[in-house]
Amino acid sequence: MEIAIIAHDGKKAEMVQFLNEHKSIFHQSKIQLVSTGTTGEKVKKAGFKVLCLLSGPIGGDAQIAARVAEGKCQMVIFFRDPLEKHPHEPDVLMLLRLCDVHDVPLATNPATAELLIKAL
Ligand code: PGA
Repeated sequence: MEIAIIAHDGKKAEMVQFLNEHKSIFHQSKIQLVSTGTTGEKVKKAGFKVLCLLSGPIGGDAQIAARVAEGKCQMVIFFRDPLEKHPHEPDVLMLLRLCDVHDVPLATNPATAELLIKAL
């Protein structure tokens, strides 16, 4: 199962903390993590195996959206920062939309991610 993880800058520490709190799940070999570039670097440093794509603002969210559309990615955990403006907002909206189009579970905050992870 492929799970995409993305965090805006103000939420990256929270993402690493979330992964650490659920290490036993995210270290399972049946789970493959894929991530936008900068989030992925931080997650790698924390000791997780992750496929890093491009950084969000230069197309990483769009790459993950494509994986959702192609049926490669089965869950998206995207800690968005609702208090910041982002130049790649159109890409973010495309990702959210494609999750809905393809009925792929999407968590945009830790509380929802927690519930999704518990269902695995
Ligand atoms: P980043 O991208 O992990 O490369 O920072 C995340 C985003 O802003 O979409």
